[in-house]
Amino acid sequence: MPDARAMNVNVEVDVLVVGAGPAGLCFARALAGSGLRVVVVEQQPRAALAEPGFDGREIALTHASRHILEQLGLWERLDSHEISPLRDAKVMDGGSPFALTFAARDAQGGDLGWLVPNHLIRRAAWDSVQGQADLDILDACSVRGIVPGARHSEVTLTDGRRLQARLVVAADSRFSSTRRMLGIGARMRDFGKSMLVCRMQIEVPHQHTAWEWFGYGRTMALLPLNGGQASAVITLPPRDIEALLAQDEASFGRSISTCFEHRLGAMTPVARALAYPLVGVYANAFVGERCALIGDAAVGMHPVTAHGFNLGLQSQDRLAAVLCRAAGRGTDIAAPAGLATYERGHRLASRPLYEATNAIATLYTDDRLPARVLRRAGLRLAHGVAPFRQLIAAHLTQH
Ligand SMILES: Cc1cc2nc3c(=O)[nH]c(=O)nc-3n(C[C@H](O)[C@H](O)[C@H](O)COP(=O)(O)OP(=O)(O)OC[C@H]3O[C@@H](n4cnc5c(N)ncnc54)[C@H](O)[C@@H]3O)c2cc1C
Repeated sequence: MPDARAMNVNVEVDVLVVGAGPAGLCFARALAGSGLRVVVVEQQPRAALAEPGFDGREIALTHASRHILEQLGLWERLDSHEISPLRDAKVMDGGSPFALTFAARDAQGGDLGWLVPNHLIRRAAWDSVQGQADLDILDACSVRGIVPGARHSEVTLTDGRRLQARLVVAADSRFSSTRRMLGIGARMRDFGKSMLVCRMQIEVPHQHTAWEWFGYGRTMALLPLNGGQASAVITLPPRDIEALLAQDEASFGRSISTCFEHRLGAMTPVARALAYPLVGVYANAFVGERCALIGDAAVGMHPVTAHGFNLGLQSQDRLAAVLCRAAGRGTDIAAPAGLATYERGHRLASRPLYEATNAIATLYTDDRLPARVLRRAGLRLAHGVAPFRQLIAAHLTQH
């Protein structure tokens, strides 16, 4: 691989990935050994990628995701103390004592899934690509322009360097500027709310059960972590979140304990609370001329069903398989037929989940009477239908 700093217009690469987030790095890792020359372009500096800061996100991973992370050699890089098992999940509505529960035993499995802090996934992904042959990471820069052509795309970086890439892959978040540069639109759904996340020490043991609790006026989730800790997740209008964030530590702890109606005893923050705007994004296409989208750049999910990165992992896995097959056969990695296979597969996997997630997010944040009646009835109906619970549990635990 030529020295990345000395790259000019004559440098040809096979795959140019924009974004060294978890999806982009896992994708680069999945191409190891394919013989393809890969360049990843990332706006953050190298030091921030090597030691990503805590971002409050605790990622619920399914069995299928764990399998992919094992294959990529990332799972073994995670500190086992930081992997919290998810045994059961319950969904509650308002003050009703009724809860719909999903247990791993519904799917005859051990755990429903695992919770891993996002920054540790990012670090493991970064570590996994260090020293990878045929891979170059260009940090602290971005893409200024992309001109697709018959044999390759001409890519200009913000620092003036130019490359020729046979395939450009956008992995630069749900607000992807590369997607826009490639002329691919997206449907965006702004839920008008923000999500506050904070690691808390709790008094009452959580038994490794996750909660999704649709209280009136707000939605709460509790993600059970090792060491008697949990991540408190609260969805509220942005101004209410700002008011919570402005509180001192003791008042904040009291406010969160009150939100959870003291069901977990006193809750004390052990890390800085962070907030994220809730915007769902679904790209109009996942592929185009010599380009493809993966991760949140393709599908940015509302976090309520905890499926964003699980889908992102699937997307990179599916696209990498198409590319590796083409490389093995010596055919064009950006051939329309191969990219169409990726598009079809990922649309099939993501569309129903995306729509269902938006419907849940809408129904469960609507506090008008019809919605309240509907969701209470829905929970009871779902509880009465054992195959439904088994289906959800099996979906989470399938490999
Ligand atoms: C509060 C919260 C909780 C969540 N919980 C879960 C969960 O439980 N389970 C789950 O599966 N998912 C969850 N998610 C979703 C998950 O975090 C995302 O799906 C995942 O981080 C997306 O990874 P990505 O690599 O596609 O994008 P990102 O993580 O957004 O990374 C994008 C990368 O691209 C870089 N970049 C951006 N623009 C440019 C540019 N122009 N040029 C170069 N580089 C650029 C960024 O710096 C970044 O490094 C949650 C999300 C939130 C907000």
